Amino acid sequence: FLKEHLLTILTVSSVVLGVIVGIIVRASVLDGDDDKFKARTIMYVNFLGDLFLRMLKSLILPLIISSLIAAVGSLDISLSKTIGLRAIAYYLLTTVFAVILGIILVMTIRPGVDRSENSNENTTTPAAVQRAITTPDTMLDLVRNIFPPNLVQACMQQYQTVLTPNKIQNMSDPTNSSNYVLGTDLDEFIISGKYVDSMNVMGIVVASIVFGIAIASTREHSRNLLSVCNELSHVMMKVTRWVIWLSPIGVFFLVLSKLMEMENILDVFAKLGLYFVTVAGGIIFHGFVILPAIYFFLTKKNPVKFVGNMAQAIATAFGTSSSSATLPVTMECLEHNNKVDGRVTRFVLPIGATINMDGTALYEAVAALFIAQLRKVPLSFTQIVAVSITSTAASIGAAGIPQAGLVTLVMVLDTVGLPAEDVTYIIAIDWIIDRIRTVVNVLGDSFGAAIVEHYSKKDLERSMETPPRVNGNMI
Ligand code: ASP
Repeated sequence: FLKEHLLTILTVSSVVLGVIVGIIVRASVLDGDDDKFKARTIMYVNFLGDLFLRMLKSLILPLIISSLIAAVGSLDISLSKTIGLRAIAYYLLTTVFAVILGIILVMTIRPGVDRSENSNENTTTPAAVQRAITTPDTMLDLVRNIFPPNLVQACMQQYQTVLTPNKIQNMSDPTNSSNYVLGTDLDEFIISGKYVDSMNVMGIVVASIVFGIAIASTREHSRNLLSVCNELSHVMMKVTRWVIWLSPIGVFFLVLSKLMEMENILDVFAKLGLYFVTVAGGIIFHGFVILPAIYFFLTKKNPVKFVGNMAQAIATAFGTSSSSATLPVTMECLEHNNKVDGRVTRFVLPIGATINMDGTALYEAVAALFIAQLRKVPLSFTQIVAVSITSTAASIGAAGIPQAGLVTLVMVLDTVGLPAEDVTYIIAIDWIIDRIRTVVNVLGDSFGAAIVEHYSKKDLERSMETPPRVNGNMI
């Protein structure tokens, strides 16, 4: 017990320490150094953080596959359906809630409206938008990725619509504005698709669920397969527990190196301070006030204790900016500290980490409306509704990897006729907002699993098919 507390305290302190040391190093050691030296130093500093991230990432695939198959395979099909539908209802409702909160905040605070006297001089209306990749293209990609033609490939790559042959089409690097095709004659381009190097988590999740359902419906013949998945899932949780012991070191170096790398924070905040306050404030309010309130209202359990028990996952989400990489830690915290039934967490968490991103949804809406304010583009009520719908879709489509939300933001901008290159307005502080939204994405998944478990308790107990359990977990 003491051991666990110690680890949590250490990990949370490592975030704080990373920030403090980062600020000191920036001010002293790195000041005035040439860029090459700086890049190399940062690479060395990041080394241990990178190792930690690699270990977490290596857990994702075997953990998602084995735990989803084991969880779905061991529940009877109607119960899986009930739990699945409850989870999806929670995901959608809370995401829409987050988007509405974001829209209210950005319309009230209006961070993009220039309040200075000569504000008229800086009017920048967007150049006629030359549509590049459109919202329907992105949505079709999402659906295509649900049906990967090759499961082995899906472990490494996902499909993306691109315009070829002109210009670079690599949207995986959103910070490089030359990747966007704008202001050029669309006739020069051919729309086609290609596979990009990014794990297709959505496809893997869906395939594992289908496999699990097939196991549940052919139980007589697939007992061995089910126990293999069950055992693999337990072994992976064990490895996760080992990796978690490294999190204080890993998180410290991840945060430190990021702080050393970033642009001068004061310059950036002078420009984007109010936007930061709006988006970060909104995300934090949603994750630490609204979601806990919903949890308390629905379960009558103590949300403060719940969040405290998730501290390890929160620190890891902040350190890695990836819900997928944090997934093993989230599972461990939920099952071990919050005692949520493993059959529910292993089923709903991998899905949640892929499609349920409250922080990202709120961010997408705020960022798009902020850019519209900067550009002085007036938006009608219908357009604002369109923004909220696409923000929800964009958060579902975003992968649980660093800055995926920035890439899908292009889709939201597109709905209101803003060019993709406008993401450059907010890129400077996106890394920190990314960390904050990842924390809330992870928290949202965690509350969701606990709420779904609460409502499914009776069904779970009644279920005839349940495997024997020890300490609330499957064996
Ligand atoms: N980094 C976020 C996550 O993994 C996704 C995003 O960019 O919003 O949850």
